[in-house]
Parts: sequence; structure tokens; C-alpha cells
Amino acid sequence: STQVQLVARPAGWPVPADFRLARIELGELGPNEVRVANEFISVDPYMRGRMNDVKSYAPPYSLGATMGGGAVGRVVASRADAVAVGDVVVHQLGWRDVAQGDAAGFRVVPELAGVPLSANLGVLGMTAFTAYVGLLEIAHLTPGDTVFVSGAAGAVGSMVGQIARLKGAGRVVGSAGSAAKVELLTSRYGFDAAFNYRDGAIAEQLAAAAPEGVDVYFDNVGGEHLEAALEMANPGGRVAACGAISQYNESAAPVGPRNLSNVVTRGLTIKGFTVGNYLQHYPAFAAEMGAWLAADAVVFDETVVDGIDHAVEAFLGLMRGENTGKMVVRTLPA
Ligand code: NDP
Repeated sequence: STQVQLVARPAGWPVPADFRLARIELGELGPNEVRVANEFISVDPYMRGRMNDVKSYAPPYSLGATMGGGAVGRVVASRADAVAVGDVVVHQLGWRDVAQGDAAGFRVVPELAGVPLSANLGVLGMTAFTAYVGLLEIAHLTPGDTVFVSGAAGAVGSMVGQIARLKGAGRVVGSAGSAAKVELLTSRYGFDAAFNYRDGAIAEQLAAAAPEGVDVYFDNVGGEHLEAALEMANPGGRVAACGAISQYNESAAPVGPRNLSNVVTRGLTIKGFTVGNYLQHYPAFAAEMGAWLAADAVVFDETVVDGIDHAVEAFLGLMRGENTGKMVVRTLPA
């Protein structure tokens, strides 16, 4: 099996030399084990945090070990009663073309007509589920709310905008890092207004896009975006603190929002979450998202990078904003 391993802990932006490609001989299948030919592996921003040797909600990656993470593939051999050859499975064994292990680590998922297997990593997987949980369980979206989401053309953000609309948001506003993405937000994902955060001060652009203020801010970016959202927050507003990608590759400690006192004076709530602690809502999400997809009520995009040997480039591309929607790596057959 070809696998990508972390061999050095990055300082600031990761570089290719922090990783290596390894060829690993897989042993015979043991009792209750399965072998899976991966079709897609997920690259995600949280992986940057796991490259650091710090205690967090997910343990750090070990040096010399294969990068863990979401992946989807098809079972090619099985010694487990519950898993058959040909089944599609999702697992967390990450950046490798063939995965093998106890069947308990593999979840069989249905194959839906017209939906690529990669959807299990995005619109039917962790990222869209994050949007769903953040909006409904963390920010308590209420019909009529003005919703602002940063990173709006990404895997999570593009779902936040669409789910907000489907759940009755009043005005939906997004920010992203290119003119093409901003155009997509209004033309394809149904946002009412969008702006390019590289075009000028975020606070000014947000004030123009949400003149009546913001009731829910879904924060994927942190930093200046969070400060702008606190500035435009309406009384009783809620912030779902989902991520802070503007800070993941900074080596200096981040500066907090200078207007944090708005939380006091406007009665705001900022609540962080990691989606893994909300798995009890997964069945509701899967049912609702399945229905939305079947009814063409939700659209989704994926950026596909070919080849396990390009996984590092795909990850770095994600951090640089080269993706629209979910970034995945297609594991081409050798
Ligand atoms: P995306 O698909 O949104 O990809 C990351 C995007 O971040 C890039 O496309 C880029 O878009 C944007 N970006 C990169 N640097 C900056 C910057 N300095 N300022 C603003 N935008 C930037 O990734 P995901 O949808 O997978 O993740 C989005 C966020 O959600 C991340 O913060 C992630 O950590 C978080 N997350 C949290 C989870 C949780 O359980 N709390 C679960 C899953 C994700 P652009 O071109 O617009 O700059």
C-alpha cells in the first residue's frame, strides 16, 4: 500500500519535506478484518492542528506514522460477517491507497444513484454535518435571522449558506477569497450578498452586505473576520466558533478581537464546538440532507486532486484556498 506519513512537525506553513511517501506490505487478513481499496481521501484544515505536538481534542499525529483522516473506498476482501466484498465504507485510516484493519473501524454506507462516493466526505459527511450542527445546535438559527459565514465557498461554508436558507434565515451573507468564489456564492449557493475579504477592510464590507446587522455568525476563519462580525452583531446574536483557519499556519500567537466587550454589551453568545461531540444528531442530518439532495434543494462542489502522491499538495492547496467546496484526493488505481 502507498501511504503518506508525517516525518517532521511543521513550523508555520507545512512544506513537502515534512512528509514522505512510504510503500508498506499488507499482511494476510486476520479474523474480522477487511481490506479496502480507497477511492477518495479527505484533506481537512483540522489536520494542521494535529501536526503540532500539543494536547487538543484530537491527538497529535505521531512522527513516522501514516496521516489519519477520513476516507472512502470499496471492500476488496473481507473476513468479517457484517462487511461484504463490494461494500462502500467510510473510515479514518487516512492517506493511503489501501486500508486494512478490524471491521469495527469501517462504516458501511449506502450507494446513492448519481452521487459520487466522495460525497461521503463532504455533502453527506463530516463537513456538511459540521454546518448543520453549527447552525442548528450551536448558533440556534431562528427563522428570519441574518446569517454571516466566512470561508463561505468551502466545504463547510457552502453548506452553511444553503442550510441557513432552507431553515428560514432572513438574509444570508458570505465572504470568500476570490472574485470567482464570491460570484458562485450568489449565483449558485443562494447567498443574498457576498464579498471578497481581500478587497478591503472586512468590517466595512460586512456593514455594506448586512446593513441590518448579523444575528448568527458562523466563524470558519477567526481574526479580523470575527472582529468584524462582533462589530456588526445584533443584540442577542450568536457566534458558532467552528474554526480559525486564518491562524492555523501562523507561528506567532494570534491577537484576539479588540471588541470582545461587545459580547457583554450586546448579550452575545460565542460557543465553540467540535462536530465529533454531536454525533447523536448525525441520523437527523443524514435524513434531511438525503432528502434535500434528492429534491435538488442543495448543490455541492468538490475539488478533486488526483493521486495519493499529491495528497500533500492537495492539503496545502486547501490551506491556500485553491478549493471550491470539498477538497478530496482521488486515489487512482496503481
Ligand atoms: P474549506 O473547504 O473551507 O477550505 C479552507 C478554506 O479556507 C480555503 O478554501 C480558503 O478559502 C479559506 N482560507 C484559507 N486561509 C484563509 C484566511 N487567511 N482567511 C480567510 N479564509 C481563508 O475547509 P472546511 O470547510 O473543511 O473547513 C472550514 C473551517 O471549518 C475550518 O476552519 C475548519 O478548521 C473548520 N472545521 C471545524 C470543524 C469542527 O468540528 N469544529 C469540523 C470541520 C471543519 P478562500 O479562498 O475563501 O480564502
